[in-house]
Amino acid sequence: MVTDVIIIGGGAAGLCSAVYLKQKAPSLSVRVLESLPRVGKKLALTGNGRCNISNKRIELSRYHGENVEFCQYALDKYNIAFTQEFFEKIGVRFAFEGDKAFPASFQAASVVDCLRFAAENLGVIINTETRVTNIQIAGGKYRVVADKVSFMASNIIIAAGLLSGGDRLGCDGTMLSLLKKAGFNTVKTTPAIVQVKTATDVVKQLKGIKINALATLKSGNRKIREEFGEVLFCDYGLSGPPILQVSRAIMREQNNLKIELDLMPEISENEIFDMLRQRAKRLFYLKLDEFFTGLLNKRVGQVILKSVGCSLSDKVQALEAEKIKKLAFLIKNFSFTVTGTTGFINSQVTAGGINTLQFDRETMMSKSNKGLYCVGEILDIDGDCGGFNLQWAWSSAFCAAESVLKEMKYASDK
Ligand SMILES: Cc1cc2nc3c(=O)[nH]c(=O)nc-3n(C[C@H](O)[C@H](O)[C@H](O)COP(=O)(O)OP(=O)(O)OC[C@H]3O[C@@H](n4cnc5c(N)ncnc54)[C@H](O)[C@@H]3O)c2cc1C
Repeated sequence: MVTDVIIIGGGAAGLCSAVYLKQKAPSLSVRVLESLPRVGKKLALTGNGRCNISNKRIELSRYHGENVEFCQYALDKYNIAFTQEFFEKIGVRFAFEGDKAFPASFQAASVVDCLRFAAENLGVIINTETRVTNIQIAGGKYRVVADKVSFMASNIIIAAGLLSGGDRLGCDGTMLSLLKKAGFNTVKTTPAIVQVKTATDVVKQLKGIKINALATLKSGNRKIREEFGEVLFCDYGLSGPPILQVSRAIMREQNNLKIELDLMPEISENEIFDMLRQRAKRLFYLKLDEFFTGLLNKRVGQVILKSVGCSLSDKVQALEAEKIKKLAFLIKNFSFTVTGTTGFINSQVTAGGINTLQFDRETMMSKSNKGLYCVGEILDIDGDCGGFNLQWAWSSAFCAAESVLKEMKYASDK
């Protein structure tokens, strides 16, 4: 079974490149091989089912990887405007919440449907339940082996994702191992955009509570990254947007890591100390368990009081300056020892992957294997939470598809 192009993986990048190729060159034969019974399973779960499809502020600083500049060309050339036009053509209108782009339906499944309908209409051949297990080079073509069948093509686009979401989303890392065996260098893979496990004594007491805080990930006293937003306490540790955002470094550093929450980032520790002293004078008639009522989340306040050795049944009157000082410090530095993350299965993206130095940044083609492309998450590029990862999937897919069109001498760049 010979086609012009085989795309391995019917996820975000794979479906996008297949549709784009057939839009530009209807006579090109394009086959997508997908291991799961349906294409786009992960895409349908993105953005809590709403699909944060892109972001108005696509900047290099929101991406990571050993050779992060690799992604600049693709993101600049095939930017959000280009992506928006592509999606508009297949029926997906963009809607914005701040800088974040979503489908106007706010349904991730509708993005999968529109890609699928366009692929079917354009004549993309989709083979589901077809897991690729080997790739061989034969007579200048690629033989792609899947269980009991094999397919031939002169171009293969590997869009197989990595490990995030785990087996249920088809992300078992087979293609990474296969490429490794074939001699490609890889960068250590770790989960990113993931919940953080911490020492559980305090978080367990606060399970289910959400508070706004500036979250800072530190290794010893070195600040790695800070983000402001809503932090969620869980029985295993911490979650919420700022935690997911700072989580990337955790499995890559693993050195004396902690997350510090600043519960009042807009004022200094001294100002908090003064405020608490005055508050103690004013509210002398309360018991300590109500001291923070109206100022902080009540449970959080109580846990902080206990952490500095206060008895909650004492009167506020009894609060000494020394204790108030400690409280002010804790409000600025509510600290949690990091013990790990909740792993690939819960992560939104995988940091690391195929080393990009082996690929051409304008085409995504392997420098050593003509006609072999890698796109999307499988490459050592990952983005922050906020639509950055899907934009990378789209942009890199457009790059590879354009290159295939050029190599196959189809008109492009229209
Ligand atoms: C829960 C969740 C929410 C997310 N939300 C967002 C969001 O809102 N915005 C955002 O920008 N990013 C989000 N992401 C990240 C985003 O989904 C990924 O970055 C993106 O899907 C990567 O695209 P991809 O095509 O490279 O890989 P995938 O979308 O993972 O697709 C890879 C496909 O390849 C198939 N495959 C794998 N191995 C083989 C094989 N050997 N043979 C055949 N097929 C194979 C898989 O089954 C899969 O369908 C989220 C991720 C998760 C898990």
